[in-house]
Amino acid sequence: MGFIKFENVSYAYNSGAAETPAVVDFSFEVNEGEFVALVGHNGSGKSTVAKLVNGLLLPDEGAVYVDGMSTAERSNLFEIRKRVGVVFQNPDNQMIATIIEDDVAFGPENLGLPPAEISARVGWALECVGMGEHRKGTPFRLSGGQKQRVAIAGVLAIKPRVLVLDESTSMLDPVGRAEVLRVVGSLRKNENMTVIMITHFMEEALLADRIAVLNGGRLVMDGGREIFKRAEELESIGLSAPLVKRVAMKLRKAGVLDDDDILDADALAGALCR
Ligand code: ADP
Ligand code: MG
Repeated sequence: MGFIKFENVSYAYNSGAAETPAVVDFSFEVNEGEFVALVGHNGSGKSTVAKLVNGLLLPDEGAVYVDGMSTAERSNLFEIRKRVGVVFQNPDNQMIATIIEDDVAFGPENLGLPPAEISARVGWALECVGMGEHRKGTPFRLSGGQKQRVAIAGVLAIKPRVLVLDESTSMLDPVGRAEVLRVVGSLRKNENMTVIMITHFMEEALLADRIAVLNGGRLVMDGGREIFKRAEELESIGLSAPLVKRVAMKLRKAGVLDDDDILDADALAGALCR
């Protein structure tokens, strides 16, 4: 069984009289070491999936398992939340303390770890996100990208096996986005971290090994970067292929190129030179 497993999960929000199905018959597995991008247009159910992963929401139907433990068992939630850390969109809503190290210490303190271990984890987590020098500083003066890196450090300090980023770059400027993506890259490389990156930036999805596409709460595509060849299908559900892919497809239509496998700028430049 995958480290994370959704088994025929459906979930509807009970907002007054109207029931909104947010996730419908969703089956999905993520193995340890994978880097998966979860994409879909607004309202397709991505954040609901993120909240179902660690039991912030519980399925109406089906089941969610983390490391073999069902989120539906209350007694599993502590262990599940040690294994899966979720970083949300707005870094300002994720800061609680006035000193950065206290903020990052919040998670490990809740695990009841001894002070020396907490301190070591805070140092390690801040180093992982390139914010080691800011340990004694205050979060308020940080840029958006720096704040989001501190939020990631707060999750890392729990030493999760899986990091879920729910549109964690969407409120950042390009510099901040690049900072966060660099952190994800180094966590993949140095810590072999399992990552589920929820994003509506197709260029970001290209960084992942696997791309899962949600539409109307249903999983409609799940595969490698070749799914971007299904550009028309993606457009029909409000998504577009990455810019490079779209340019390559236009050039192909115009008879300039005949290469169907171009997904990054280097490949496009190479094909054009040829
Ligand atoms: P995404 O993250 O892909 O934008 P969400 O998971 O937030 O999608 O939302 C999926 C669906 O559930 C949407 O139709 C949305 O309007 C609805 N929804 C999300 N949160 C709530 C909520 N707290 N109450 C009622 N409906 C909600
Ligand atoms: Mg969302």
